[in-house]
Formats: sequence, structure tokens, C-alpha cells
Amino acid sequence: MTVDTWLLAAAGTHLDGAVAAARTLGGRVTVVAVGPRTLAEAAAAAAPDEVRWVETPDGEPAEAWAAAVGAEVGAAAPRVVLSPTDPASRALLAAAAVPLGAALVSRVLALRAEDDALVVDRVSLGGAVVETLAVSGPLAAVLDDSDDAAPAAPPAPVTAWTPAAAPAAVQVKREPAPGAAAGVRDAARVVSVGRGLRSKDDLAVVEPLLAALGAELGCSMPVADDLGWVPKERYVGRSGQHIAPRLYLALGISGMPQHMEGVRDAKVVAAVNSDPAAPIFRTADYGVVGDLYEVVPALVRALGAPPA
Ligand SMILES: Cc1cc2nc3c(=O)[nH]c(=O)nc-3n(C[C@H](O)[C@H](O)[C@H](O)COP(=O)(O)OP(=O)(O)OC[C@H]3O[C@@H](n4cnc5c(N)ncnc54)[C@H](O)[C@@H]3O)c2cc1C
Repeated sequence: MTVDTWLLAAAGTHLDGAVAAARTLGGRVTVVAVGPRTLAEAAAAAAPDEVRWVETPDGEPAEAWAAAVGAEVGAAAPRVVLSPTDPASRALLAAAAVPLGAALVSRVLALRAEDDALVVDRVSLGGAVVETLAVSGPLAAVLDDSDDAAPAAPPAPVTAWTPAAAPAAVQVKREPAPGAAAGVRDAARVVSVGRGLRSKDDLAVVEPLLAALGAELGCSMPVADDLGWVPKERYVGRSGQHIAPRLYLALGISGMPQHMEGVRDAKVVAAVNSDPAAPIFRTADYGVVGDLYEVVPALVRALGAPPA
């Protein structure tokens, strides 16, 4: 069985992996790119069969088009519709799942056609389990990000596309988010903590270093998302803040690619980690193998500031 697939994208990241996943089903791959021209070009570079580009005027959120795009996809009735993980793409996917009557499955790692069923591997139980689902009807799947290499095939043609229904009327006004995230985004120096920190109270160990360096506090995703020790607006990485400080100092952070993606544009990356084999030492410009509870007070002393 070959299966035609539509991919709904409102952001240009990880489309190579998403198109590669669609290709495993053997049918035609159509991307609907809702956003600026650069998004349509990123989609085309992932080498689907065609890109339908819904242009959004400056600042108009892709979600304004969710119902209109969903209705068109419903009318085309593909067996499979996919999205990457960003929130706006997922909103488009959900809007298409309704008219399709599709099973809506998130955190999908891989999919394949077996006999008449679509077989889906997806992450479950907070990452502890990989579940395999067999879906006999239409499927709408949110694909987990993957780092697939860019395709060798030439870019797909891009066609400007206007769904029959108008977009929802949405007015946008932008202000900095609460939690002073702008501080992390714009700071010349950022000191981030990871799961090497043992408790929220131990942020007190880091505070004198922030003061001595005039740095903003950042963190890895689990410290904000799972533990709630630092406001979510301050976590750095693929799904968090992308920052470009002159100095990024990572304390007790392993340096997984999803984290390091957020500091790709930092001028200098330094790391303190007790594990000499921690991945962060492969990319950091400077590294200290040591216990952050010893190294941080030593740095504060060296900078001539009072310890905690
Ligand atoms: C789709 C997706 C998106 C993601 N997006 C992001 C993202 O945007 N940002 C992000 O950060 N993560 C993201 N992640 C999670 C990422 O993969 C890692 O799980 C996360 O970055 C790990 O956080 P950590 O380094 O704090 O924790 P760990 O990986 O647990 O590392 C803790 C480190 O601390 C060290 N350590 C322990 N004790 C000490 C000590 N006393 N002194 C010094 N070092 C010590 C350990 O050796 C270890 O290296 C994402 C994951 C997925 C699947």
C-alpha cells in the first residue's frame, strides 16, 4: 500500500525529517506552508512533491488560517496528515484532523504502512515507553523532531495557494513576556543551570556568580519544565530561547543537542560538569571538570566578589 501524505507546517524547522518520514509511506508528499516566503522555501528544500504556500501578511499568526486550511485538507481527504512539533503547526494539524475524522497522535517517532493499517511508533509515559499503534482509518500525527540530513533531491516547486475560506480576523499586539525573558534573550552574559543543581534552594549558590559577572540566569529545559525551579521563559534550547550572548556558562548541564541548539550563536561557551565524558565538553570553548558546588564559589572568589 502506498499512502499520500500532507504535511502542515507553520515553522521551518525539522521539515527534512518530517518529509523523510512521509516518504516512507511511498505516496505523494504535499506540504502546506503557512507563513512567510522563507518558510515555503525551507519546505521546498526538504524535497516533497509540491509546496502549497499560504502567505501570511506581516505578523498574522498561522493559526488564523487553521479552519480554512483544515477544511481544504478535509476536502482533499488524504489518509495521512502530519505536522512538526511547533505549536502553530500542531494547531493546523488539529483543524485538519476534525473534518478528516482522523486519529490524532502526538510524539510520533516513525510510521509505516502494513497491509491496510498505518503503524505508528510513538513516545509514551513521559519518554519511558515506545508504544506501537495500528490505525485503520485516517491518521493525523505530530512528528517528534529528528535531525535527518538534508535530502539529496532538488527543491520542490512552490505554488501560492489561497484556501476557499478566509482566515479568521486576528489582531496582534506584542509585548515582552512576563518573567523578564527579554533579559536572557538580550544579555551579554548568561549563566545557566541544569539538573546538576540539586535543589531550587541551591540557586543561592549561583546568585553571587550572576552578580559578579552581571549575567542573567538561564537553565536547561527540565529545570524549568519538569522541576519548575526557574521560569519557563528562561530555558535555553531548541524549544526554548535561542540566544547569542558573548559568554554562555553552563553549570551541571549535559549538553544534549536540543540544549546546545539554543546557544549556537554564543561567542564563547564555557561549561562546568563533574563528568569528564559529558557531551558539553565536545562543543564548549572552555571546560572545567568539577563539582559546580566547589567550582562556582571558587569562580566567585576569583572574580573578587563575596560568596553566598
Ligand atoms: C523534542 C525535544 C526538545 C527539547 N528541547 C530542549 C530545549 O530546548 N532545551 C533543553 O535544555 N533541553 C531540551 N530537551 C531535553 C534535552 O534532550 C535534555 O534532556 C536536557 O537538556 C538535559 O538537561 P540537563 O543537561 O540539565 O540534565 P542532564 O542531562 O540530566 O545533565 C545533568 C548534568 O549535570 C552534571 N552534574 C551532576 N551533578 C553535578 C555537579 N555537582 N557539578 C557539575 N555537574 C554536575 C551531570 O554530569 C550531567 O552531565 C529537548 C528534548 C526533546 C526530545
